[in-house]
Amino acid sequence: MSPRTLTLDDRLYAYVTDLGGREPDIGRRLREATRALPAAGMQIAPDQGNALALLVELIGARRAIEVGTFTGYSALRTALALPDDGELVCCDVSAEWTEVGRPYWQEAGVAGKIDLRLAPAVETLDALIAGGWGGTVDFIFIDADKPGYDSYYERALILARTGGLIAVDNVLWGGAVVDEADRSPDTVAIRALNAKIRADERVTMALLPIGDGLTLARKR
Ligand code: CA
Repeated sequence: MSPRTLTLDDRLYAYVTDLGGREPDIGRRLREATRALPAAGMQIAPDQGNALALLVELIGARRAIEVGTFTGYSALRTALALPDDGELVCCDVSAEWTEVGRPYWQEAGVAGKIDLRLAPAVETLDALIAGGWGGTVDFIFIDADKPGYDSYYERALILARTGGLIAVDNVLWGGAVVDEADRSPDTVAIRALNAKIRADERVTMALLPIGDGLTLARKR
């Protein structure tokens, strides 16, 4: 037993992925289709998918936004967890990647809940704010270009309802956040947002060491 978070070796992590949640078979198949792609590391881990789906259910989310869709695995898990009248706006700039996911969304019967917007995410988020979505969104998942994180987080706080949940992925960035020699724009951006959210009285927050690090921030 340990008073700190365990370091998971491969066997223990395999146990977590096996026993840690019920990933739908279609999710597993989409992950496997994505694994063959050169940018496969951008996909969230299945245990993160289980956690996101549970969170979406827990807060009774109906309206959700995803910033950074890649091949659509997190969108699939989120959309499956939304009610039949739920809606998920997906922001991404790659038609090529998002097309990988679309057949799986259709097969899962959730394509009708997903509104994919191929444009820079800030443009889509600003259009939603201008369209009256401010204060109405239950769940927002941020997992896109890291230098854009602060812009996405600020817009997410405008869009979220009171009690709405913002989830931010890759907040540990492979451990680079504690490597002081690492001054790359991605690492610098993540470090800055982590410090900002830690001090941000607009939210209640917790950084979970799941996947590559997932921060949960509940709008007050
Ligand atoms: Ca990610």
